[in-house]
Amino acid sequence: MQQEVKAVNKILIAEDEASIANLLHPALEGADYRCVWAADGAAAADLLETEPFDLVLLDIMLPKADGYEVLEYCGTLDVPVIFLTAKGSLEDRVKGLRLGAEDYITKPFELMELLARAETVLRRCGRAGRGLSLPPDIEIDTASRAVKRAGQPVALTAKEYELLLLFVQNKNIALYRDRIYERVWDEEYLGDSRTVVLYIRRMRKKLGLERRLVAVYKVGYRLEV
Ligand code: CA
Repeated sequence: MQQEVKAVNKILIAEDEASIANLLHPALEGADYRCVWAADGAAAADLLETEPFDLVLLDIMLPKADGYEVLEYCGTLDVPVIFLTAKGSLEDRVKGLRLGAEDYITKPFELMELLARAETVLRRCGRAGRGLSLPPDIEIDTASRAVKRAGQPVALTAKEYELLLLFVQNKNIALYRDRIYERVWDEEYLGDSRTVVLYIRRMRKKLGLERRLVAVYKVGYRLEV
């Protein structure tokens, strides 16, 4: 049998705060990205020079070379950048975007939000990998929206597919019911959880995730990996 080689996107985290890097690293790896961490601007530039990256999450206030300098360098290498910074003023935002950053996320941020933005930028820049997986047996082809369980196609409705994608991109993270609803249904959550409960139940059953996609008391759900 021919084994398909899965393209994995590689992300550079340029961030001097270890607590933030330690938060981002497992979340991104959980979403099937490969990550490398650089703790200052010079180390980030060195890494960019020697390894190909698909995306840089770039802090502005960095030792040795600041984010703006690293951004300029990324531009010459044609690597997309999302600024990740405590500097949230309009002026900084405009400066970052004018210099060519693809997006701008202000700390503190929600992991779910960051993962969604990273995915969007990768897709927009034509770098998104086609495949996502949920070991041991679930494969998702994001280009064709086809889902397989143990090699067999599983028919999911559009909303069930969006739900699955959301959980696979946020493994081991408790997702709030209202945020799930707003992301998948793209409407304001008015407190009625029946829709989310119903769809999750159906999706869980079709994919045999009853024991792994667990309800989190007073929050919502978490996909355990
Ligand atoms: Ca910093």
